[in-house]
Amino acid sequence: MKILILSPHTDDAELGSGGTIAKMISEGHEILWVVFSIAGDSLPQDLPKDTLKREFLEVAEHLGIHENGYRIYDFRVRHLDEKRQEILEDLVKIRQSFRPDLVIMPSLNDRHQDHQVVSNEAVRAFKMQSSIIGYELPWNHITFDTSMFVRLDKSHIETKFNLLSHYRSQFQVGRGYFSSEYVYGLAKVRGTQCNSAYAEAFEVVRWII
Ligand SMILES: [Zn+2]
Repeated sequence: MKILILSPHTDDAELGSGGTIAKMISEGHEILWVVFSIAGDSLPQDLPKDTLKREFLEVAEHLGIHENGYRIYDFRVRHLDEKRQEILEDLVKIRQSFRPDLVIMPSLNDRHQDHQVVSNEAVRAFKMQSSIIGYELPWNHITFDTSMFVRLDKSHIETKFNLLSHYRSQFQVGRGYFSSEYVYGLAKVRGTQCNSAYAEAFEVVRWII
């Protein structure tokens, strides 16, 4: 299966679907991972603007994803709405060149302004061709519809936490969801809902067989 992963900022896809990505790669699926912003303006002043890009590249290396397996755009964080059409056109080009079977993106119920742009444009670009699921970032949701689960074992969640550990800048700024308690806790909750040791939940936007 060809799987397109959409991450508005570095770290979103790891937080929402890092265990699933680890599982998909171990099963031999072909991945293309697209990051839209390296969020240089969100970093503490003392850190270089490309810090999150370098941390993402460590994640890619950790997973054995080569240069043709990811793309990193540098749209300005919190201003993706100003580039909506450009983002749509990039996604359409990816649809034509990569032709994904499955698109993994932020939930349509995600309230972050940049996440909404990526998800809305992805639906426009892929709704006729690909299955589409949205990942869970609980701090951005009022509601989240757990309509799909990916069952995971402990090794997948360990890999997810190890991937997140590359984002030293985010641990430094003290984000509560960059913690083992959060990663293992949510995965255990979602696993409990689908008779598995661990899991990640997704919203089904479109499912095509
Ligand atoms: Zn984000």
